[in-house]
Amino acid sequence: MKIVVLGAGLAGLSFALEATGLGHEVVVLEKSGEPGGLLKSREVDGYTVDLGGSHILFSKDPEKLDFLLGLVGPENLVKHRRDTRIYYRGMYVKYPFENGVYMLPPEERFEILRGVVEAYVKRRCGEVEPRNFEEWIYAVFGAPIAEKYLVPYNRKLWKRPLSQISLEWVAGRVPMPPIEDVMRSAVGLPTEGYLHQLNFYYPLSGGIESVIRGLLSRLRGRRFRLVTGFDAQAIYRENGETRVSDGRDEYGGDILVSTAPMPDTLRLLDGRERRLASGVFDYNSLSVIAVGGPGEAPPYHWVYFPQEEIPFHRLAILSNYTPRAAPRGHVLLIAESSAPPGSSFPPGLAERVAEWAVDLGFIGGDAEVVAVEEWRYAYIVYRHGYGRLVGEASRVLRENGVLPVGRFGSWRYMNMDETAYRAREAARKVSLGGAADGGRGE
Ligand SMILES: Cc1cc2nc3c(=O)[nH]c(=O)nc-3n(C[C@H](O)[C@H](O)[C@H](O)COP(=O)(O)OP(=O)(O)OC[C@H]3O[C@@H](n4cnc5c(N)ncnc54)[C@H](O)[C@@H]3O)c2cc1C
Repeated sequence: MKIVVLGAGLAGLSFALEATGLGHEVVVLEKSGEPGGLLKSREVDGYTVDLGGSHILFSKDPEKLDFLLGLVGPENLVKHRRDTRIYYRGMYVKYPFENGVYMLPPEERFEILRGVVEAYVKRRCGEVEPRNFEEWIYAVFGAPIAEKYLVPYNRKLWKRPLSQISLEWVAGRVPMPPIEDVMRSAVGLPTEGYLHQLNFYYPLSGGIESVIRGLLSRLRGRRFRLVTGFDAQAIYRENGETRVSDGRDEYGGDILVSTAPMPDTLRLLDGRERRLASGVFDYNSLSVIAVGGPGEAPPYHWVYFPQEEIPFHRLAILSNYTPRAAPRGHVLLIAESSAPPGSSFPPGLAERVAEWAVDLGFIGGDAEVVAVEEWRYAYIVYRHGYGRLVGEASRVLRENGVLPVGRFGSWRYMNMDETAYRAREAARKVSLGGAADGGRGE
């Protein structure tokens, strides 16, 4: 089979690896000048910056994790036990908050425990039935945890009322804390929580792009071609092929796999199919600001900041992931700040981040802005009606010979493990004869 893939990120290249392994010929067309998508890293002044924000390797599923670790190679991996924090009233409370309650003063622990128990009883008695993300937070964690941390943090990250976010978002993604853990924590006993991310891996050298380099080296010598700088303008069917053109060059295959964002792919189709692209494909953009400087940062991996006055929601300390991320005696931080569609990031954001990094004591001396990268699509927002819209869009794409794959291609909030796994699974299904409009793909 001849297959054309749009996008050379993790999804497109994982698809290509599996499909070429099954004997198919694959051409990957990438819009930007280089492959990698969100998993690009750049060397600047001795720092190795992950341009798509902080990325760690982890998974609940050992098989999915092994695939990613194999791409990096055992000799280039560091393993960590997660130490992440929430900045709260000048303290670095252990994450998840409900497990870190033991670090708070006794009065506050009591208030939180009472809230959790009240919420638990109400839920068990069927007195509350949450209809959206905000109601779910109150119903599961109680008012004190909701108001002290979860609601302010999530509002800052999602940039919209949490009542607009559907329960489809919560299902299987936001972990439910065992009440016993919260009780232990409230009486002062440390607990861990959220165990599947307790250990994580990171490349010793080369940043998270090592994953992409691993894919490209495995693809070498196969029936695979990568074309960069291809900005698709139209997708159409001709003589049984699905074809894509950028107005200059054209490629066609038995099937077209798109890892480009779903609404963008819909806009490339003919006439009436485009109308679906105006549905509520809601998302957040992201600004990634890398700041470096001399000193020694606290020993955490990353910290969440729910405070509105602090211009980032998360600060990752990459030089604690691997000492090779920064020159000796230096710290590399990556700050992430989100924005809703149609709005831009405030001027001077990077400089403010650098000032905060020094004020918070993460950098000892002069902080340097090492890199700034903005991503239009970063977080998919599950608005009410999400499932219906994405289901309909996937059906229309398949009817037009396009198989949606990847985090933005299939418009599904997925980490690397799931993105790579589903892309490879899609290639196997296509190979078994489940063509775009037959197989379920993603
Ligand atoms: C801030 C942040 C932190 C994250 N942290 C983690 C983490 O710690 N661990 C984890 O496992 N996962 C993490 N993820 C998720 C991970 O980044 C994704 O699962 C994965 O990178 C998605 O890969 P993709 O190929 O689907 O998308 P992308 O990386 O976006 O790749 C899509 C590619 O398609 C190209 N493209 C777009 N439009 C077109 C077009 N019209 N024509 C041709 N090409 C096009 C793009 O240029 C891009 O190269 C994080 C995500 C974000 C945003």
